[in-house]
Amino acid sequence: MNWTTIRKTPASGELAPNPVDAAPVSWETARAELEGLPGGGLNIAHEAVDRQVRAGRGEVIALRWLGKNGERRTFSYAELARLSNRFANGLNRLGIRRGDRVCVLAGRLPELYITALGALKVGAVFCPLFSAFGPEPVRVRLAKSQARVLVTTSLLYERKVREQRCALPDLEHVLLTDSGAEPGVHAFHALLDAESDQFAIPFTAPDDWALLHFTSGTTGSPKGALHVHEAVVAHRLTGRRVLDLHPGDVYWCTADPGWVTGVSYGIIAPLTNGATLVVDEAEFDARRWYAILEREQVKVWYTAPTAIRMLMKAGVELARGHDLSALRFAASVGEPLHPEGVVWGLETLGQPFHDTWWQTETGAIMIANTRAQDIRPGSMGRPLPGIEAAIVRRRPEGGVDLLEPGAEGELALRVGWPSLFRGYLDDEERYRHCFTDGWYLSGDLATRDADGYYWFLGRADDVIKTAGHLIGPFEIESVLLEHPAVAEAGMIGKPDAFAGQIIKAFVALKPGYAASDALRKELIGFSRIRLGPAVAPRELEFVADLPKTRSGKIMRRLLRARELGLPVGDLSALENSAE
Ligand code: ATP
Ligand code: MG
Repeated sequence: MNWTTIRKTPASGELAPNPVDAAPVSWETARAELEGLPGGGLNIAHEAVDRQVRAGRGEVIALRWLGKNGERRTFSYAELARLSNRFANGLNRLGIRRGDRVCVLAGRLPELYITALGALKVGAVFCPLFSAFGPEPVRVRLAKSQARVLVTTSLLYERKVREQRCALPDLEHVLLTDSGAEPGVHAFHALLDAESDQFAIPFTAPDDWALLHFTSGTTGSPKGALHVHEAVVAHRLTGRRVLDLHPGDVYWCTADPGWVTGVSYGIIAPLTNGATLVVDEAEFDARRWYAILEREQVKVWYTAPTAIRMLMKAGVELARGHDLSALRFAASVGEPLHPEGVVWGLETLGQPFHDTWWQTETGAIMIANTRAQDIRPGSMGRPLPGIEAAIVRRRPEGGVDLLEPGAEGELALRVGWPSLFRGYLDDEERYRHCFTDGWYLSGDLATRDADGYYWFLGRADDVIKTAGHLIGPFEIESVLLEHPAVAEAGMIGKPDAFAGQIIKAFVALKPGYAASDALRKELIGFSRIRLGPAVAPRELEFVADLPKTRSGKIMRRLLRARELGLPVGDLSALENSAE
């Protein structure tokens, strides 16, 4: 990479010394920081809200909700504790017990947060469903998770659930956030109103199931990953260590709680660290987002490359009109963060984006550029203390070989951190296949440099083999993104009799640029100079948009399928885009 390292100035005097930051990390010490339940129990919701109230932080704002039409509501930690107690009592009244699945299908509404915490309090498994899914993916996920309770809105219920209920025998109770009870449905708020503010959390063991998250479906059918209460140890610690969350910090995680980031870092990490969570109900809008950063005085911001690319596309002038000086730390996750994006953050927002890497399966951030450490733009950063990572090659007979710095291979993590998933729903074999010799194999390809920074190359499935070279799409896409005309780029390998595969690029242009033969040639020439002819794309096609999963990730397998006229394979990609 030809980007220079971004060196960090010493920590600003603004922060109080933090004993957690200073302590050497072991998972035992991190666990000891939590309050726990009597008898060795652990409960995520207890650590997230009840504990804050007991520690005297009940009046601190836990949730600042911004409605899409300009409404604004705030909830203190004490209110969130009371409301989730009420909901927990209501769930008990409905007969919901430890291990039962409680799903939510809703946009970013306060009721979603109350449901998550209340469900965790009764020891149920909380499972969020992304609200933009169509009826079929909703049905599939409700059936797979054997949900007994669904919290949703009347609109989403009518559109996506009502007609399917006969096919969902486990789904006993539907609670609507915005209407009264009628046959077959309860009114969420009537249920809350009828219950007591007091609730004693029953014993939940650290390895009791707590969360069920479906993966994004970028590489195949979405998988249901199960997590346990003990994951909170990692959520809290990484929230502090990576995102630099401190009590009272205003924090905005733009990920939807329908995905793992929106729960691990959109609910649990900030609340267990005593932060104030900003939740915006509306969809992405560059102008609105800058206004939120400015008006809410957001200090810590966790977002994703898709959003960063859209902000870049909207132009720097828009950002320049806002005072973003409250921002202390900005981070990104979900896809490779191109060096362009890191540097753009520094130049435009005054803070570089810190890339972080993790997966639904890992439950929490594993590799990151942290506040204390120099950033190498284009690198995912270094493994966190307590996480042992390696680049490995699978042996055909089983087991792995550990590779040296500079070698390309699969990113693996030594098993033993608390938020590692404990199973794929109904797919024990697939789960077992992820582990060998005490390592968890991520399915992502990467390299490690001599200083221990990890560099993402691509998904194992997306890697391109051309003329004897093994190429990850990320590197080529990064180069194309350096060209001022390019807004987004996706790369695939296309079969070729001589080279094995040739590289084909799909490019979406920024506003103000028009597709033309001359521009195509220019872009190919531009990448040839930087990458060398063997690695540069041979073909380049302009597209209006790149296909993405519902969580905003570029789906190269769909580009490949379209290009080669192949069937899409399984329904997940289509399912992800069905409204
Ligand atoms: P599926 O497993 O269903 O194909 P998915 O892997 O996209 O979907 P997630 O668990 O949401 O589902 O995403 C994790 C993946 O996202 C990682 O394995 C990696 O490929 C990609 N990813 C996340 N963060 C980064 C990052 N900082 N740099 C590069 N890739 C990242
Ligand atoms: Mg995955």
